[in-house]
Amino acid sequence: VSLDYEKKEKEQIEWLNQSKLRFFTNISHEFRTPLTLIISQIESLLQSTSLQNSLYNRMLSIHKNAQRMGKLINELLDFRKQEQGFLQIKASHQDIIKFTNEIVLTFKEYADHRQISLLYRFEEPIIDIWFDTNQMEKVFYNLLSNSFKFTPDGGEIIVSIEVRNSLVNVIVSDNGPGIDQKDFDKIFDRFYQVENGYSNNKHTVGTGIGLALVKGIVESHHGTIHTENKTEGGSRFIVCLQMGEDHFMEEQKTAINQLTTTKLMTDSEIDDAFVKEVIESQKLITDKKYSILLVEDNPEILDLLVQIFNPIYQVITAVNGNDGLEKAKNNQLDIIVSDVMMPEMSGIEMCSKLKMNLETCHIPVVLLTARTAIEYTIEGFRTGADDYLTKPFDTRLLIARCNNLVNNRKQLQAKFSKQADSDVNIVATNSLDQKFLTRAVSIVEKTLDDSNFDVNLFASEMMMGRTAFFQKLKGITGQTPNEFITTIRLKKSLILLTDNSNISITDIGYQLGFSSPSYFTKCFREVFGVTPVKYRKDNQVIN
Ligand code: ADP
Repeated sequence: VSLDYEKKEKEQIEWLNQSKLRFFTNISHEFRTPLTLIISQIESLLQSTSLQNSLYNRMLSIHKNAQRMGKLINELLDFRKQEQGFLQIKASHQDIIKFTNEIVLTFKEYADHRQISLLYRFEEPIIDIWFDTNQMEKVFYNLLSNSFKFTPDGGEIIVSIEVRNSLVNVIVSDNGPGIDQKDFDKIFDRFYQVENGYSNNKHTVGTGIGLALVKGIVESHHGTIHTENKTEGGSRFIVCLQMGEDHFMEEQKTAINQLTTTKLMTDSEIDDAFVKEVIESQKLITDKKYSILLVEDNPEILDLLVQIFNPIYQVITAVNGNDGLEKAKNNQLDIIVSDVMMPEMSGIEMCSKLKMNLETCHIPVVLLTARTAIEYTIEGFRTGADDYLTKPFDTRLLIARCNNLVNNRKQLQAKFSKQADSDVNIVATNSLDQKFLTRAVSIVEKTLDDSNFDVNLFASEMMMGRTAFFQKLKGITGQTPNEFITTIRLKKSLILLTDNSNISITDIGYQLGFSSPSYFTKCFREVFGVTPVKYRKDNQVIN
């Protein structure tokens, strides 16, 4: 009798679970359509060429969050599909070392940001096995996201790959709190969440679906997943995959790697009217053509990108990350667009190298990625890139995003040189640039009265070669060293004019290194639109 009762109760629970799931799935379906509409509306707004800087950034944030929501919905729908046996595996023959490396790399910047050491270890250079790249990336994104949720700042996360008894083990280990023995199996159950589960991110509530989905995907690959605690603390998730191809049915195999063949764009036509509008918007800001570096290893895609940008920018191309780095150093660039998946050096690695190098860190970088799972990333996630687009994307959106990035920078540069009260730091987008500019300003200020101070002296004070210095300063501020010196001197003159009414304008000019009073007046009027005399009269401090 009690067995009967237990069975009944089990059925009851399962029935409840099923109706719960059906309910969620139906709702998610309902959510998906309006969400898609919201996203496409935002995308078309983002293409507007007349958006104000701050508005654009806010909309970008709406866009990212809407995409995140889309990811949650897709996860639930995926999970449901899998539960009902509708999830189709499309396995292709892939190098799992490279595949996993790309995923680990996308977390690199975030790890740095939290001082977590993120290590990737493998014993063999290449391990080709069969798996569905679209599904398997969800597995590793989920496991890594979890590790990051539970690992404290300053901790350590290790992803390692080893071959044991013709099985490939991918191990994700962290030094978070680990998992209670009693929860070992349950955490892979749908909706299961560890009670009082300690996470260092209080905002992440989770759905309890992630690991269930992971387990389902691994099992549909005829693999296994389990977890254990490390003796030194923290947990370890071990995904075990089979080598060879006999465990897949013929219809589950495909010759094509979905990730690399993903279409680049949703549309291939770029309409002339739009291009014209973009060019007009640039003309309002500068009369020079911006220069763009396109980095892409696939010649056909590179060619497409060149076609897209040729009417708008001066185009320079590179065929991999190394080449990209080299060209970024040797050209005065306004923006870089790069693919992520490239041999030799990935786009993410290149980007992080660009951002660590003083010569190149000011150049905005846009990454193109096939990783739909980039939305998995946790709050605060950054690739180090200024923006990224997931393939396939709308060409107009790509152009608009790039154009907005460049225009924003140019507008800030104009503000720096023309607005009396604007601080030099408004043109610095990172700490390297900030340090560089602070140093440059202090050197100019130290030599205010020295009319012999020139570019050569300036460069050597900055401990840089003349050309590199020129490029760098121009890159951040939009000004040549001479213009920069004049700008800083003029800004200084504003203070002297208003606060020190006892110093004559002639003296101020000489004190600030202008060769003659008339030259001072000329420069002053060019920038601020009035003469120093008038400025002093209008802004007299009354004491
Ligand atoms: P959720 O959406 O709640 O994160 P998951 O299925 O991904 O759902 O995880 C289930 C539970 O497993 C979580 O509530 C969490 O407490 C626990 N868990 C997952 N990964 C880890 C980890 N690396 N360290 C500690 N606990 C973990």
